[in-house]
Amino acid sequence: LRQEIQRSEKLNVLSELAASVAHEIRNPMTVARGFMQILSQSQVTEEKKHVYTAMVIEEIDRAQGIITDYLSFAKPEAEKLEPLNLSDLSSKLNNLILPYAAARGVDIQIDMKSPLVIQANEEKIMQCLLNLTKNGIEAMTNGGALQIIGFKKGSNVILQITDTGVGMTAEQINRLGTPFYSTKNKSTGLSMMVSYRIIRTFGGLIEVTSEPNQGTCFTISLPAV
Ligand code: ADP
Ligand code: MG
Repeated sequence: LRQEIQRSEKLNVLSELAASVAHEIRNPMTVARGFMQILSQSQVTEEKKHVYTAMVIEEIDRAQGIITDYLSFAKPEAEKLEPLNLSDLSSKLNNLILPYAAARGVDIQIDMKSPLVIQANEEKIMQCLLNLTKNGIEAMTNGGALQIIGFKKGSNVILQITDTGVGMTAEQINRLGTPFYSTKNKSTGLSMMVSYRIIRTFGGLIEVTSEPNQGTCFTISLPAV
């Protein structure tokens, strides 16, 4: 019965989301179409052609990002949950985010005490960690430090992702995880929602503390195996 309730709850969210996804995709499509129309006129200079083409690609990428995020949300939960030692993911995570962090002058520090075994799906948990670390890095426009620590606390595995970035007001924290909430240009505003969902699927939760101009700390708690 509980599974059924979760299923119908999910279908509701999905169909509500589908409507806003359609809306959010229409915007970049309209912009891209406008530029294509200009480009089809012969008097456009070479220089303008480059600019407009780049903008069309940017808009299409945005639409594609929205679809990717939506699908990863809509995809039935991976049925195969397996025991996973999060400590084993730390070098992979480090390799994936290092270039992104380095380009923004952000120092990465990862410290995951072994073993941190949870029941999960590797791909999904990586997606969630990447979403949160990416947000942390993007919050530090003038460089800073991103810390990812993992430890056991009672019967839970705790992961904390802390940045020294712009932080959030209480009102902004409240809007976290709602579809298409984003304060960034060229962003989908779906990845927090996806991340919350993933952690919930694994029986855990995400908490956030944040202080404007000080930074943000996301705490993920998951049942330890
Ligand atoms: P996106 O990153 O595409 O904007 P997200 O769903 O990942 O969408 O995040 C939604 C919004 O939450 C961001 O635009 C940002 O305003 C806020 N946010 C998320 N993480 C952080 C963070 N670590 N520090 C400050 N703001 C954040
Ligand atoms: Mg994001």
